[in-house]
Amino acid sequence: MKKEDLLKMFEYNKFKQRILNEKVTTPTTTVYKCGPLIDLCRGPHVRHTGKVKSFSVTKNSSTYWEGKADAESLQRIYGISFPDAKQMKEWKHFQEEAAKRDHRKIGKEQDLFFFHELSPGSCFFLPKGAHIYNILVDFIREEYWKRGFKEVVSPNIYNSKLWEQSGHWQHYSENMFSFEVEKETFALKPMNCPGHCLMFDHSTRSWRDLPIRMADFGVLHRNELSGALTGLTRVRRFQQDDAHIFCRFAQIKEEIAGCLDFLNGVYKIFGFTFKLKLSTRPEKYLGEIEMWDKAEKALEESLDKFGEKWELNPGDGAFYGPKIDITILDALRRQHQCATIQLDFQLPIRFNLGYINEQGDKERPVIVHRAILGSVERMIAILCESYGGKWPFWISPRQSIVIPVAAPFDEYASKVAKQLEEAGFLSEADLDHGDTMNKKVRNAQLAQYNFIFVVGEKELSNGTANVRTRDNKVHGEHSIEDIITKFNQFKSSRCPDAEETF
Ligand SMILES: [Zn+2]
Repeated sequence: MKKEDLLKMFEYNKFKQRILNEKVTTPTTTVYKCGPLIDLCRGPHVRHTGKVKSFSVTKNSSTYWEGKADAESLQRIYGISFPDAKQMKEWKHFQEEAAKRDHRKIGKEQDLFFFHELSPGSCFFLPKGAHIYNILVDFIREEYWKRGFKEVVSPNIYNSKLWEQSGHWQHYSENMFSFEVEKETFALKPMNCPGHCLMFDHSTRSWRDLPIRMADFGVLHRNELSGALTGLTRVRRFQQDDAHIFCRFAQIKEEIAGCLDFLNGVYKIFGFTFKLKLSTRPEKYLGEIEMWDKAEKALEESLDKFGEKWELNPGDGAFYGPKIDITILDALRRQHQCATIQLDFQLPIRFNLGYINEQGDKERPVIVHRAILGSVERMIAILCESYGGKWPFWISPRQSIVIPVAAPFDEYASKVAKQLEEAGFLSEADLDHGDTMNKKVRNAQLAQYNFIFVVGEKELSNGTANVRTRDNKVHGEHSIEDIITKFNQFKSSRCPDAEETF
């Protein structure tokens, strides 16, 4: 319908008027009709409500118009429908399970992190949450060491001139925090890439130096609307396991194969399966078509060699290069996009990057943007929900607790806890005598301590501890040395079920 007719038709509603005036830039747009209801919509709609066999209103909440805090407050109603009642039942069950595992709930119960209104969207990680955070970063760092990535540390604030050169200023400035310093405009980085381009360009590069795999856990800031912030999944401040590979065109295939092997190794440890999609040249693209074809061919070959199934997503690449989209499936079979492998032909041009080839001529490198965890914050949310708060031993913020059977064994309990801590494991002693020993064991199990060590007369004289797990599996009496040896094995192998295999 014509926009002018629609403005008349929806005269009664100032919000629809606003959508028409602000969002519709074409002379016509679509409306959909279902019985007496006519509404602005891109469609499609179900043909009639008789098709809806099962529906449920799930929640309502107040929300600001377009999420902007200075706009009107409205009510948003959430609902869902299914073509049959069985699917609705399944969905409801799944929702209950998901709610139990909500990372915001677990984060609170387990003292991992919190948010404060004085810094919306920036998380405060408490010691136990920071422990998880650092273990994840250490894990990736260890892999970098093996896989030829070199870590760098780069600035957080840059003059807007950098963002103009990278193109972020033109396309992304709304999402950036900017401010004035000595009459010049600066901004907090939302990505590491432009800074890495400056680092690549800092010295003369030869073909012998390539590939350069530059890794950075730098702090990134993106200005998400306060209404859109949710727990750790949508934040303003985050870190990524970000890396940029500067390579020759002929090295693309091998580098991508390396990236795929890397993500496979990491996701296997987490127990995630994943799906791969190759997104190719979109309608609007920059660069030469032969270059795109060759690069896409190289990506296809790496994917084939990798051996996992993959799908083609034609035309869905970025304007600056093709990419591989990776979707992980967590323990509740929910999909998340974390990893990215993105080729970039444009940034090297914008920063006029080059290396000297065998003939002594300047050649342009290709950049591969890649991350496996993606945002560490978001990965913590996903792991929290996927594990349902039952952290595997190697990542757990509560690896063990020592419980004395009675007060005379407090000293020995503290000694055992200290021995474990000195060996590099989290351990504490529960010396509160307000609860019975059985109650303490139960509490420790509910708090998700992977291992519970009970000590009394026999353990004290033998220099041992009685081993139990959070699932109440009893492993009997073990020497402290034996426990430390086993803990070291679990840690280095990142064992997913240490409690079973003890
Ligand atoms: Zn990047």
